[in-house]
Amino acid sequence: MNSPIDLHAHSTASDGVLPPADLVARAAERGVRVLALTDHDTTDGLPAARRSAQLKGVTLISGVEVSVTWAGRTLHIVGLGVDAENASLQRGLTKIRLARVQRAREMARLLERAGLDGAWDNVCTLVQGDVVGRAHYARLLVLRGLAADPSEAFRRYLSRGRPGYVQAQWAGLDEVVSWVHQAGGLAVLAHPLQYRYPRAFLRRMLTAFAAAGGDALEIVTGGGTAEQTSTAAAYARRLGLAGSLGSDFHTVHSPWNDIGNIRPLPQGVVPIWERGVLLPQAAPVASADELDAPS
Ligand code: MN
Ligand code: MN
Ligand code: MN
Repeated sequence: MNSPIDLHAHSTASDGVLPPADLVARAAERGVRVLALTDHDTTDGLPAARRSAQLKGVTLISGVEVSVTWAGRTLHIVGLGVDAENASLQRGLTKIRLARVQRAREMARLLERAGLDGAWDNVCTLVQGDVVGRAHYARLLVLRGLAADPSEAFRRYLSRGRPGYVQAQWAGLDEVVSWVHQAGGLAVLAHPLQYRYPRAFLRRMLTAFAAAGGDALEIVTGGGTAEQTSTAAAYARRLGLAGSLGSDFHTVHSPWNDIGNIRPLPQGVVPIWERGVLLPQAAPVASADELDAPS
């Protein structure tokens, strides 16, 4: 049974494999009726997604997943219900995309040393929009036979301490929450338990997010365990944050985060759509009853 609401998904505008229109079509086929497109550091996929959503009867939420550096570590803030025309948001995203290109060039240099010839030119053939990221290098490493699958590529080459890892300097936590709010959206801290940060660090990070005016934690995420869901729900309740849910869909080859393949929000958490901003867009289907109903 798929969730009718999925508030985190990627298209070819960043590091997903489906063009925005195909992503929306897949969501519709799988019973998702409210979908947020949340590409990394870009809103470029939204116009095509919106046209497709109108045809397919899907309610599209305008979203973006913004890269943040906090205390020397990366975290992701998903902005939901944003006005993609907002100047502060777009200025911020442009700066982050430039930092992505710089990081990707440095990664190419390091990966060439580690045996990936022509890394930069070849990775560019895999990037379809303006956003380059580690997932593109992971796919290239697999294509070249240097890793069996993308997760092995991350483990052996692309994560902290591995030969292709470059620490990037993204935007600040407070400024990103502020861009999202200026654009009329809600700020969600994405997949809090997936960073695998030590508990004390995670607690400080979530507290800082709440203090910055953050709105919600992404309590249900594709591939997350039931235990992670209840831990995240407990943090949200303690910090007075709402809860969001999303598959973090990137590719059709990863069944654990296919679109809509997520459990419902647990009881006792305020769903993000009750915090107002998403209601005008999500009203036709966004109720807790429908979340629990078989689709
Ligand atoms: Mn990604
Ligand atoms: Mn993320
Ligand atoms: Mn994501």
